[in-house]
Formats: sequence, C-alpha cells, structure tokens
Amino acid sequence: MEQVVIIGSGPAGLTAAIYAARANLSPVVIDGMQPGGQLTQTTDVENFPGFERAVNGFELVNTMRKQAERFGVRFLMDEVSATELSGSVKTVSLMMGGDLQARTVIVATGASARYLGLPSEQQLMGKGVSACATCDGSFFKGVPVAVIGGGDTAMEDALYLSRLASRVTVVHRRDAFRASKIMADRVLSAPNIDVVWNAVVEEVLDPAKGEVTGLRLKNVVTGERFERAVQGVFVAIGHTPNTAAFAGQLDLDAEGYIVTTDTRTSRPGVFAAGDVQDRHYKQAVTAAGTGCMAALEAERYMTANG
Ligand code: NDP
Repeated sequence: MEQVVIIGSGPAGLTAAIYAARANLSPVVIDGMQPGGQLTQTTDVENFPGFERAVNGFELVNTMRKQAERFGVRFLMDEVSATELSGSVKTVSLMMGGDLQARTVIVATGASARYLGLPSEQQLMGKGVSACATCDGSFFKGVPVAVIGGGDTAMEDALYLSRLASRVTVVHRRDAFRASKIMADRVLSAPNIDVVWNAVVEEVLDPAKGEVTGLRLKNVVTGERFERAVQGVFVAIGHTPNTAAFAGQLDLDAEGYIVTTDTRTSRPGVFAAGDVQDRHYKQAVTAAGTGCMAALEAERYMTANG
C-alpha cells in the first residue's frame, strides 16, 4: 500500500511530492492528462518568486519535476478514472487499468480551459479555434486573429499572439478588463491589438467552409450585430476544475471546486491543492504553496492515525 498518492503533476502536485518525499513518505504522482499542468502552456512567468527575469512556464515546471525526481518521487503516466475515498484505505483506479491503494491522497488535478459552448466553435475546434495560444499561435503567422475574454489569460494570449499574427482583436463582453492593470495596460498600448468592448460571439464563421474566416459578434449594449474577419480564434474565458473523478466522493461547491479547509477535504486523509480547490487566486505560486500545505497535512494525518 502507498502512503501518499498525488493526483496531478502541476506546481501543486509537484510541490506536494517534494515535501512528501523529503518526509520519507515515498509518494507516487499520477501525471494526469496534461503532465506539468497549465503552466506548460504559458510562455513567460514573471511573478514566480526567485527568478529575477521571466522564466519559461514549461522550464519552471520541468525543473520542479527534476527536483522531485532527485528525492525519489515515482511518476505514473496515467489518469484517474474513479476513486473510493471513504475508508481508511483509499482506492484510486487508473485509466489504463489497475488500482492503487493508499493511506492518503492529495488531489492536484487543476482546471481545464472553458469554451463558449457554441456549435460553430465546436465544429471548428482545431481548425482555427483553440484555447492555447502558445500551442497553436505559430499556425497564425501574419494573419489576423481574435482572443475572447478579458482576464489575465486573454491579455497574455493577446500579447503573445501580437508577436506572430498581423493583428489581434480582443473581444470582451464588458467595458472594462478583469485582468491586472499591468497586463491590461500592455494590451491597450500594443500597436497591433485592438479591443471590441461590450461584445459577445454569436457564431464562429464559417462552419460550412471547415475553417475560421471570421466572427459574428453582437454588441450587448446596442444590440448591433457585426462581423470581424479573422483566421484564428483563441478562447480565454477561464477554467473549470477537473473533479469528475471525485463527484460523490468529496464535497464540491456549485462550480465543481473541491471544498477545503487548509487543504483538508470532506474526507479524512484526502487533501486537495492548487486550482482544483482555488477559485480565487489560481497562481503558480499559490498552487505550490497549497501543495506544500497538503503534504504537511498528509504527514500530520498519518502521524495522528498510526
Ligand atoms: P478569469 O476568470 O480571470 O477571466 C475570464 C474572462 O473571461 C473574464 O474577463 C470574463 O468576463 C470572460 N468570460 C467568462 N465567461 C465568458 C463567456 N461565456 N463569454 C465571454 N467572456 C467570458 O480567467 P483567466 O483564465 O483569465 O485567469 C484565471 C486566473 O489566473 C486569474 O486569477 C488570473 O489573474 C490568473 N492568471 C495570471 C496570469 C499572470 O499573472 N501572468 C496569467 C494568466 C492567468 P468578465 O470579466 O465579464 O467576468
């Protein structure tokens, strides 16, 4: 039986693994569907303490992984299909078959990009519609693209794409960005980025052609409908927590985030860290911080429970 199974390998899971390994708990990490998590999709990380200059997101998480490996952390390239977390022995079932039994489980499965939910968006997914600017941006060199959203992700995507695309149009449903001022100011002063305020996407054009040719937009204040010619659409409207494997096992809030108190979930011996339990901060550094907390809580739980 394992002492600690950690589900997810972003900054939360890896920090939990480093702490658990150094406490001699011999943790095993289940990589999940996106090893390294969302950080692998970002470019420059400027706000992770300890780096005077920006650090590449992929490099940052890869360094954390090597640090964990140095302490003997084991990694399983698999995903979790189901869990049974009620008893003192927890069972974690794996997608590729087989179960792990553990005394404690740390859930660090993060969150996944949200989409608009339009049929046209679905039809043109991978044919010009993407939720990952750093993955797909290079397909749009020298052509116009749009970014949907008004948060920090949308700003980061718009700035990244502005270095590749001929023009970037940010479409936001309100008249002010949610993003931090520093990011919003960079977008507003970029020469080849323009913003369409108070607008929602009604349709990604043109499903009949099987490629993106533009957006049909609606001004939510005036009701006016208009089109914008773009060849790529990057959706950056937030994230949904990855908690499908824990429904019925752990208390979740209305949006599906795991409910925690100091990383403790509704089940003794089960802890959660990072974006899967964080609807407010969602930073790499807060994910790492809660990963540390979860490992310390797991250690404390095992000491208290023999
Ligand atoms: P956010 O939830 O912060 O922003 C989502 C944006 O999408 C909002 O502007 C929202 O509009 C808009 N939106 C949501 N749903 C829809 C919809 N159905 N149609 C149209 N627009 C919609 O998510 P982010 O992914 O941007 O950021 C998540 C967290 O990660 C934040 O805490 C952010 O600060 C952080 N982050 C930090 C970075 C950094 O520091 N470098 C980089 C990236 C993210 P509205 O404002 O009207 O609600």
